[in-house]
Amino acid sequence: MNKQGSLSINSENIFPIIKKWLYSDHDIFYRELISNGCDAITKLKKLDMIGECSLPDDYEAKIQVIVDPETKTIQIMDNGIGMTFEEVDEYINQIAFSGAQDFLEKYKDKTNDDQIIGHFGLGFYSAFMVAEKVTIDTLSYRDGATSVHWESEGGTDFEMTEGDRTVPGTTITLYLQDDCTEFSNLYRAEEVISKYCSFMPVPIFVSEAKAEEETDEPIEVTEDGEVKADESEESENKPEEPKPINDTHPLWAKHPNECTEDEYKEFYRKVFHDYKEPLFWIHLNMDYPFNLKGILYFPRLNYQYENIEGTIKLYNNQVFIADNIKEVIPEFLLLLKGVIDCPDLPLNVSRSALQNDGFVKKISDYITKKVADRLTGMYKTDKENYEKYWDDISPFIKFGYIRDEKFEKKLNDYILYKNIDGKYLTLPECLEENKEKHENTVFYVTDEKEQSQYINMFREAGTDAVILSHNIDSAFITHVEAKNKDLKFKRIDDDLSDVFKEETAEDEKESFETAAKELADAVKTALGVEKLDVKVEKLKNASVASMITLSEEGRRMQEMMRMYSMSGMDDSMFAPTQTLVLNVNHPLVQYVQNHKDSEMAAEVSKQLYDLALLSHGSLTPDRMAEFITRNNELMLKLAEEK
Ligand code: ADP
Ligand code: MG
Repeated sequence: MNKQGSLSINSENIFPIIKKWLYSDHDIFYRELISNGCDAITKLKKLDMIGECSLPDDYEAKIQVIVDPETKTIQIMDNGIGMTFEEVDEYINQIAFSGAQDFLEKYKDKTNDDQIIGHFGLGFYSAFMVAEKVTIDTLSYRDGATSVHWESEGGTDFEMTEGDRTVPGTTITLYLQDDCTEFSNLYRAEEVISKYCSFMPVPIFVSEAKAEEETDEPIEVTEDGEVKADESEESENKPEEPKPINDTHPLWAKHPNECTEDEYKEFYRKVFHDYKEPLFWIHLNMDYPFNLKGILYFPRLNYQYENIEGTIKLYNNQVFIADNIKEVIPEFLLLLKGVIDCPDLPLNVSRSALQNDGFVKKISDYITKKVADRLTGMYKTDKENYEKYWDDISPFIKFGYIRDEKFEKKLNDYILYKNIDGKYLTLPECLEENKEKHENTVFYVTDEKEQSQYINMFREAGTDAVILSHNIDSAFITHVEAKNKDLKFKRIDDDLSDVFKEETAEDEKESFETAAKELADAVKTALGVEKLDVKVEKLKNASVASMITLSEEGRRMQEMMRMYSMSGMDDSMFAPTQTLVLNVNHPLVQYVQNHKDSEMAAEVSKQLYDLALLSHGSLTPDRMAEFITRNNELMLKLAEEK
């Protein structure tokens, strides 16, 4: 029953393609061969269940991977269904190889950026990515089956003979190519297998081949026949109970009712190596109309401005495919951390095909809907926690709101704005609260420290503002404005609204304006700063002498330019014109007004400007140096006068 043959693959053109294709992902052969072993075991168990065969009582399904860096070989052994001579011929010689050939034919002209998700489709053939010779030793579970030995060098010619395997199952042996011997290193092997096989449904044991000389130490037996336990604490010679590298029952596969809070947290730590506890999670569990399971975690952010970067791991029947496949998982969800297992995904296609696949779109929509429902549900039934988590989850929600129309619609009424008193309001609530003072305008703070002067003024005037300090917020408010035609967001240092100003009697208006203009001109001349407007106002808050305002439009324009301009470009070109507001109710400003052309008034003007800049959070290094010198001089003058 020997057989030889050539596979209808032309090695000259196939290997360069494979090499190019799988250049960085050589390691998937482990996944493919181990998952074949899992499949073989699953099939055997099914046959046992339906009574087609009967497994011995002590049957323990397992896959063993034995690496041998000495001989540069890897063995992958399973005690699954095995194959008969005919099956090897059909499944390996014909199907596996023709499958690989189809796969390569189909994708050989595609460029690298249109890759197959996780390189599915190569299956058994992927062994030739790393091995110059591959052998199969297999015995079918069927009564009276004879064992088969198959081998192929280079993946184009094969030879089949009778083998010497005596227990059902299959062993694949890889004789590694010189440039791939790393995979016979135990640590490397464990690393790769952990990456792809951590949740496969059959226990996987990885070990290094033992050297020939076995240490046959005599086992001590006590008088009543029990094996004596090793008493020394460091029992180096005691073989440790081997542990599988994988968890065959991943948490996502369990029913949510059966999972405890600790289990969710433990799973999160294990999979994402994040020692900060997640805020909360969503367990996806769906059987119809498609099969999808998974857990999405909302991570706790480190600090306010941290760039959030999540990971969504995609699995196919507990076999890891890849991280962050944005064709399947809505982009904004990639800010979360989680696992998704979807056995129905068509992974045998290129990424662009996946992107246009209606079924995949449905999956992606379902995930979005679930996340939205969970969030709105929390708002409705557990508002306290929703508010508590808001600062952490808001960047994610806002990103989704901007990126995904369906998500936007669902979350529209559930976006919160934290005001300067730490209260959380919805947009309608914000607007209602300030209806009289500034209709359809929401004032916001981007930096509580820098803008504290303005916040104090707002507080005193009983006017509200909200905190929007994350870097997503500028895109977010633009989006909200586009959706709400009359609505305007203005930063708190935008032009001062009338609430802060004292009214001027009708008959005093003209004289006030003339005086104000004169003062403004004098200060402007004294300062000699080009891009600066000076405005004189009567502010209710008499303790404020000077402050800077920055028009919303100008500032947004600059931010946009900054975003789009090439790095290294001088963005002072786009610097918006600042306004220096002088409060004529303050004695220092009155002093300047009353001593307009004096040297001291000029000094005080500069001081007022620098102080306003300082409380606005910015003094250039040059100005800062001048400011300090001037301060010292002024103090000296004061001291000398005393
Ligand atoms: P796929 O797993 O997608 O069917 P593969 O190329 O990985 O494609 O494998 C081809 C076929 O070879 C499998 O469908 C299976 O019938 C057979 N096979 C491969 N490995 C094993 C194994 N370890 N035990 C039994 N059958 C196997
Ligand atoms: Mg396979």
